[in-house]
Amino acid sequence: MTTLVTGGAGFIGSHLVDYVLAETADDVIVFDDFSTGRSGNLDHLDDDRVQVREGDVRDAESVRAAVEDATVVYHLAAAVGVQNVVENPLSSLRTNLAGTENVLDAAAETGTPTFVASSSEVYGKSPDVPFSEDDDRVIGPTSTTRWGYATAKAADEFLALAYHEEVDLPVVVGRFFNIVGPRQSGRYGMVIPTFVEQALAGDPLTVYGDGTQTRSFTHVEDAVRAVYELTNTTSAHGDVFNVGEPEPTSINDLARRVVDLTGSDAEITHVPFEEVYGPDFEEPDRREPDVTKLRETIGWAPEADLDRILRDVIEARSEREVRIDA
Ligand code: NAD
Repeated sequence: MTTLVTGGAGFIGSHLVDYVLAETADDVIVFDDFSTGRSGNLDHLDDDRVQVREGDVRDAESVRAAVEDATVVYHLAAAVGVQNVVENPLSSLRTNLAGTENVLDAAAETGTPTFVASSSEVYGKSPDVPFSEDDDRVIGPTSTTRWGYATAKAADEFLALAYHEEVDLPVVVGRFFNIVGPRQSGRYGMVIPTFVEQALAGDPLTVYGDGTQTRSFTHVEDAVRAVYELTNTTSAHGDVFNVGEPEPTSINDLARRVVDLTGSDAEITHVPFEEVYGPDFEEPDRREPDVTKLRETIGWAPEADLDRILRDVIEARSEREVRIDA
């Protein structure tokens, strides 16, 4: 048996690779273009079951070759990060639309079970929290770049469901809500790695907006367990699932907890969203998942709370510094 993880050199993908290696006897193919992923995320693996293929999901031929060699596919490769998507709209859209179509097309030829990574962004700016999978979506105008990511991910979901409906592809979609943990990069505006780096450097923690907006944060280990179970549960196929911790935390509170746990004396400052992302930027106030469906289908509940997440991120960050210094 061979597991294919597109985006396997990325943050969630590399943890999924760890999980599959630990839980199964499968070989693993990592397919990644290393745009936001890093080979360092796989350096700890000393396992001849892992094969890394550098490739682009926009290239249908190399995707098909990788999918042909697999018995299960986890499609996590995507252009991610609000900043990345806003700065590179064209390549982001092409990766997130054509890339997913290529993966599903190839999987449909062989009937290979496939997981497709979607996002809480598909709910847009809907005020009706917590979000259930069948809730209406409220998406802003096409002139606001960030909604291109939400729309591409929603199109991916439509495609996945259509492949299930029309050609019986065993496919499942997971909508991730702020998955966090070690190896997540702060380069593209992700809040926890950014705050931790700022606190450890003694720099001010930059909270965007007034900081009263809330998010729910899920440990990546809890998320990959859900992804694996969903993909390997036949009754989940042809369906969409929220994957995330339901408990919300305000960004102000998050910043305070990072300062406490790092023992830093860094200040917390506030920066208007427009200053960072431009005048048309829109940021939803709250984003909380209803995970009833996930719990009922695979018995999932998160094991790690926010303090454990932050401790793991801080520890991993400090270990990395020790390795760099050595
Ligand atoms: P990440 O950037 O660490 O992972 C994405 C991976 O895809 C990277 O390794 C990158 O190099 C690779 N990639 C990008 N474009 C590619 C291309 N054209 N061809 C091949 N590989 C390519 O981000 P992540 O947080 O691990 O995200 C994984 C998936 O989860 C993505 O589909 C993302 O949209 C989704 N997601 C993540 C979150 C989160 O909270 N982290 C939230 C919602 C959705």
